[in-house]
Amino acid sequence: MAASGVRLVLLGKPGAGKGTQAALLSQHYGVEHLSTGDVFRAAVAQGTSVGLEVQRYMDTGELVPDEIVIRVVDEHFAAGGPLEAGFILDGFPRTLVQAEELEQVLADHPLELVLNIEVPTEAILDRIAGRRVCVNCGASYHVNKRPTVDWTCDVCGGDVVQRDDDTEAAVATRLEVYDRQTVPIIDFYCNLGKLVAVDGVGDGDEVQERLIKEVDGRFAPGRP
Ligand code: ADP
Repeated sequence: MAASGVRLVLLGKPGAGKGTQAALLSQHYGVEHLSTGDVFRAAVAQGTSVGLEVQRYMDTGELVPDEIVIRVVDEHFAAGGPLEAGFILDGFPRTLVQAEELEQVLADHPLELVLNIEVPTEAILDRIAGRRVCVNCGASYHVNKRPTVDWTCDVCGGDVVQRDDDTEAAVATRLEVYDRQTVPIIDFYCNLGKLVAVDGVGDGDEVQERLIKEVDGRFAPGRP
């Protein structure tokens, strides 16, 4: 039987570092990184029908309705998304309905681990106020940690800008929505014995080391 890759979910408040860490972990383990936020931002930028549907929710910091999110994720996995090869999900699931749907979709390829990246809200507010992201690949920067050349992405050369939903009002809504809609799935994964909390304070490399330690402690890469 072919070896299969890690199947992970990253949870955490907006600005906890899910996107940055998912990108690093996907390189480290050689598996796909799927961010529903990135998928929706690309759809908005390209003006697709999904983009037109989701933009108003995203701009105000509300969640995109479950049926739209589930449709997009189902299509991804149905179109050969890497159940066997492994993946890292970032920003999905975000509601109990989505978490239950994911269990169905994965069926006999269950998640190995759900990593909850914990960062206090004061630190989150600071991070998001200075956050700048690449419109093309989603790489994340900060006004204190800029790209090498102006506001041009070091990874892909795209423009690095402030996200439309990183305004004070949208961030307040996103944090409130997180408490109300996403925190309940922490218990859901705890009850399945899959949840691990990881301290998300510190620089990106430190946090990555903590995450890798947790994953490697529970997952033997290359297992049959
Ligand atoms: P963050 O975690 O920093 O808030 P994301 O890039 O994950 O950022 O998501 C940005 C926005 O995209 C969310 O505020 C929401 O509007 C939408 N979105 C992304 N993923 C989901 C999801 N799984 N369910 C509902 N809405 C989503």
